[in-house]
Amino acid sequence: MAMYDNLLANVPTDLWIGGKWRQSSDGGRFDVIDPATENKVASVASATVDDAKAALDAAQAAFPGWAAKKPRERGEILRKSFELIMRDAERLAKLITIENGKALSDSRGEVAYAAEFFRWYAEEAVRNIGQNSVAPSSGARMFVHHKPAGIAVLVTPWNFPAAMATRKIGPALAAGCPVVLKPASDTPLTMLALMPILEEAGVPAGVVNVIPSRSSGKVVSAMLHDPRVRVVSFTGSTEVGRKLLHEAADNIVKPAMELGGNAPFIVFDDADVDAAIDGAMIAKMRNMGEACTAANRFYVHEKVHDEFTKKLTAKMAGLKMGNGLDDGVALGPLVNKDGLDKVIELVDDAVKKGAKVLTGGKAPSGPGFFYPATVLDNVAADAKMLNEEIFGPVASIQTFKSEDEVVTRANDTEYGLVAYLYTKDLSRGMRVSEKLDFGMIGLNRGLVSDPAAPFGGVKQSGLGREGAHEGLMEFLETQYISVTW
Ligand code: NAP
Repeated sequence: MAMYDNLLANVPTDLWIGGKWRQSSDGGRFDVIDPATENKVASVASATVDDAKAALDAAQAAFPGWAAKKPRERGEILRKSFELIMRDAERLAKLITIENGKALSDSRGEVAYAAEFFRWYAEEAVRNIGQNSVAPSSGARMFVHHKPAGIAVLVTPWNFPAAMATRKIGPALAAGCPVVLKPASDTPLTMLALMPILEEAGVPAGVVNVIPSRSSGKVVSAMLHDPRVRVVSFTGSTEVGRKLLHEAADNIVKPAMELGGNAPFIVFDDADVDAAIDGAMIAKMRNMGEACTAANRFYVHEKVHDEFTKKLTAKMAGLKMGNGLDDGVALGPLVNKDGLDKVIELVDDAVKKGAKVLTGGKAPSGPGFFYPATVLDNVAADAKMLNEEIFGPVASIQTFKSEDEVVTRANDTEYGLVAYLYTKDLSRGMRVSEKLDFGMIGLNRGLVSDPAAPFGGVKQSGLGREGAHEGLMEFLETQYISVTW
């Protein structure tokens, strides 16, 4: 505990509603655990339905003032938020590592990525551009503009405690919408720690409210049935996303859904294998594989299979596992016991079905939810890990022979978030990219996330986009005025 005393000393642990810290209405709290030690690091207030209503009251009261601010003023506050997050980057990164487990290098990367959403949307706040045209038949003027949609409920996962939230808060605030954010129960501290930073940047009371809760289902459902809520932006599992879509249907709340993935990573025989290895390490190991964008299925052409597999195994075996706060650690623990148990089960299933373990494959004894970097070769087509998100540091490899065959196999999933492919032949790269049913493609790249790019999936990976101009539009409603003058 001593190692984090200074870091945790000033971290808020209550609900942030209307610019004030509050206890929950029933006094309930829940524990936050460090996944590296299994120690309790904090006890956080757990919001009730009444607290959620209070947060909506605060958001409603703040809405007219925030929406009426000049876009440039909102932009300046967002820009200041970016600067202050970067000022406090190291403290925030350590906090992420403490509650999520990821290595400090990953946490630092996340903080920079999270802050960028404020910088990007500071610039985008002033680009809410409409249209003016003449109706072809009547000659009336058609005046089209975009208004803030209203209060947005934001629900975020534990795997990127900062970035998944700022990816929503940034565009919502740029659009003029107040928000109520419910962070994941495993990782509520990072967002609570962000609130004084946003306040210092000039975000008015009530514009951003944060309500961690152990009763997620009830609290979110109550908000989605409140007529003041007009947008729900969710990042998490497809299973919960589907439930929230049903809930959103009752009041026709505008949904944005960033859901699960099952990314293929294709290495053609003409690929630069060393570049593919570098890309594979990022696509697989960023966040210890706990990412919706994580490469889940490696398809390697049979001609380069031996070289790719040998090099990937060497890199994976060389990663240092340990407490994410320690120097040189590249692989921290998984977030919780359920996550660890799932990885153990998926690896055991693949091995039973004939996969060969090239490195890793066995969890050490605790404390901590650790699982080593693992490479499995020759994974059978019916292994469960090819259909489910592994969400851990496990690379599953299969070979292929032809382009058509690998496209069919890559597309054979209900998910469609991101696919990666490596080839030196760009015309093949573009041809295959267009045939892949995924919202995003990494062509000779193992990382696609960028605040300036429209992030999102097709099929059961979601609806809508985050980042780029598209992300702003999720928080705006289009109004058309037909006018004669
Ligand atoms: P999750 O179980 O779906 O939880 C996500 C959030 O939803 C958490 O805040 C959770 O709260 C809340 N929640 C759970 N049940 C709910 C309910 N019935 N009603 C309302 N809210 C509810 O997902 P996770 O395990 O945290 O995150 C991993 C998943 O997120 C993976 O599937 C991953 O692919 C996906 N993901 C997608 C993207 C993307 O951009 N497409 C990015 C990152 C992650 P509690 O924590 O209190 O349960």
